[in-house]
Amino acid sequence: MVHGSCLCGQVEFDLDEAQAVGGFHCHCADCRRITGSGKASMAIMPQSGVTIKGDVKRYDSTGTEGMHLHRAFCPNCGSQLFTFVDEMPDVIYVKAGTMDRSDWINFTANFWGQSACSWLPVDGSITTFEKNPSA
Ligand SMILES: [Zn+2]
Ligand SMILES: [Zn+2]
Repeated sequence: MVHGSCLCGQVEFDLDEAQAVGGFHCHCADCRRITGSGKASMAIMPQSGVTIKGDVKRYDSTGTEGMHLHRAFCPNCGSQLFTFVDEMPDVIYVKAGTMDRSDWINFTANFWGQSACSWLPVDGSITTFEKNPSA
């Protein structure tokens, strides 16, 4: 099991890394803005593999392919923790940096390579999609 939390500790979670489906880095403009950095790095988990303790606030937006995204953050400190997608109800994306241990994540792809910042280029050792893999 892997424990994680927001910066202030008001929201915590436990996840079962054995159930992880994979991991990816997203360099899209929305992920850059919401993280304030060059990319969002996330583990893909089934909902059943993550237990969340504490209330999150959700920011709702529409993705480039019309999917309905809900980025969840701590209402107190603002740390970005999870992303939920209406069209993928069993999946929860967990931001890697919120975990106490994230070395186990198997990152296999970069999304939105076309908008990667010059100061945080895509990881050249794994597959890069110019946009979303589905696009
Ligand atoms: Zn917090
Ligand atoms: Zn993104």
